[in-house]
Amino acid sequence: MIEQSNHTMRQGTSDDLLSSKSNSKRDTARTTVVVVGASLAGLMSALALSRLGLHVTMLERSDRKSRTGAALEVSEGLLERLIGRHGNVGTDTLPSGAQAWSDVHAGLRAAAEADPNICIRSPVRVALVDQDERGAWVVAENGQVVGGDIVVGADGHASVVRRHVAPERPYAKFAGYLIWLGLVDEHPIRSRPWPSNLAILYERNYCLNAYYLPGAGGALGAGKRRIGWGWYDAGQNDLLRGTGCLVGNIVKRTLRPDKVPGSTFDRLAAEARKIWPDPWREAILHCVERREVIGTPVAEYMPERLARGRVCLVGDAAHVPSPMTGRGFAASAQDALALAEALERDMLVRGVKDALGRYEGKRLKAARDLVMSGQSFSRSFVRDHMGFYA
Ligand SMILES: Cc1cc2nc3c(=O)[nH]c(=O)nc-3n(C[C@H](O)[C@H](O)[C@H](O)COP(=O)(O)OP(=O)(O)OC[C@H]3O[C@@H](n4cnc5c(N)ncnc54)[C@H](O)[C@@H]3O)c2cc1C
Repeated sequence: MIEQSNHTMRQGTSDDLLSSKSNSKRDTARTTVVVVGASLAGLMSALALSRLGLHVTMLERSDRKSRTGAALEVSEGLLERLIGRHGNVGTDTLPSGAQAWSDVHAGLRAAAEADPNICIRSPVRVALVDQDERGAWVVAENGQVVGGDIVVGADGHASVVRRHVAPERPYAKFAGYLIWLGLVDEHPIRSRPWPSNLAILYERNYCLNAYYLPGAGGALGAGKRRIGWGWYDAGQNDLLRGTGCLVGNIVKRTLRPDKVPGSTFDRLAAEARKIWPDPWREAILHCVERREVIGTPVAEYMPERLARGRVCLVGDAAHVPSPMTGRGFAASAQDALALAEALERDMLVRGVKDALGRYEGKRLKAARDLVMSGQSFSRSFVRDHMGFYA
């Protein structure tokens, strides 16, 4: 039996219900959306769809979330654009500028939890997705079935929903390198100066990004901030395969600190001492000595489509650019806004499927261009690494 995703019972799909524009207000409120994945893209999409009056159920496999060191650029007024003028969360919930991944997630999650149209359910791991003329639904690993008018896949680079939308090319592929990520409080780092914004350094066959992030409570004063860094390294593929993080050319998981051999940490420290200047060297050594470093294998996915019938994709489920583009989060925000705009324009008159087709038309080319720009970095980075060891 299909459980309706709405907080209340539903008696038909939006296409049935929304055939008359005169009923639009009531009918929009009855439209139900199932969002798979309650991370950044899922939360932004849920907030944008709730603003239209849609009821959103989010299914998330995990309660835990941490990604050491990854930083995101939040554009001015993003939360206001997602939730409209009438949201009941303060603007300080999601400050603009460079922010830690975990802080952005916490801000969006707080906004979603305060929204009566959004219900977040976890842990629920979705195993498959299907649809017919009247609706779409997901089946969780525990056999639970949750249905609605629309299913949105926001389930990241290894998306299950993508297998339904693009069965001919369902998987993101390993780009040939990983990023070592670390995050450290600024106060124990003695070397100065730190960059005012983002530093990008190339040395030998490596690339290093380093950036300031606000400290605890959003502190921006010197000595109170945090420093994030990402070290691109194409020499760890055997380690990734040996630890099961990489199977064939499919990325399975991030390399956690307890899976990084001591000899690898020693080599990272030796390399850092040799090639990176202070203050980056000091920050990296600080993290390496404390074993507070993760290795994220980089995946890429070039989309051919973003929607099929009543099911669509947003964020990394839809397109996976190299993190070197620094645009994955912004692209996810654009997906959320474009999806809401397409549904607002077309759902009542032309129906859900046409609206999702409009969403795809609006976003596909920009998403492909973004992935392509990341691929050109990836290719030259991996080629340079091979050349270095040839
Ligand atoms: C190392 C790294 C660095 C990055 N740096 C930047 C940067 O500097 N700037 C930038 O803009 N972007 C960056 N990005 C990209 C950015 O983080 C993402 O594009 C953005 O956060 C959108 O992610 P997402 O929500 O689509 O996917 P994810 O964050 O992967 O979330 C997917 C969610 O779906 C859940 N899920 C997965 N499968 C299922 C299932 N079967 N059932 C239920 N739930 C499921 C997961 O638990 C997770 O919560 C970086 C990414 C990485 C990996």
